[in-house]
Amino acid sequence: MNKLCKTCGALCCKYFALEIDRPTTRGDLENIRWYLSHHKVAIFIQEKGWYLKVGNRCKHLAGNGRCKVYDERPAICRKHNVLECEYHYRSAVREIRTLKQLERYLQENPVRRKGKK
Ligand code: SF4
Ligand code: SF4
Repeated sequence: MNKLCKTCGALCCKYFALEIDRPTTRGDLENIRWYLSHHKVAIFIQEKGWYLKVGNRCKHLAGNGRCKVYDERPAICRKHNVLECEYHYRSAVREIRTLKQLERYLQENPVRRKGKK
């Protein structure tokens, strides 16, 4: 385990995230409203990329915060860079957990809507 990982409690092993399109239509925003209506779901925005985050710990995470399959861990885990991770660079990530936070974000960063879909 990287020594920089010893204090965070394995944050990056307690969710998974999928990149989504930046919302540009009313339909996109409605989808995001729907995602955020679920427990343990958030949206985060990092370097202009939008991601759907699902809070659910990995099956391979041991109680001591270590990976039980470290030598065979998935490629995405191998590529995860502790120097750019969500724990050490949290300030670079805007996380949206509620509809109110989404509304506030959209007021600050209006989405140019493409259509009425
Ligand atoms: S990479 Fe970052 S989030 Fe993941 S365990 Fe290490 S310090 Fe925590
Ligand atoms: S496979 Fe291991 S490193 Fe990857 S998310 Fe699960 S516990 Fe973490």
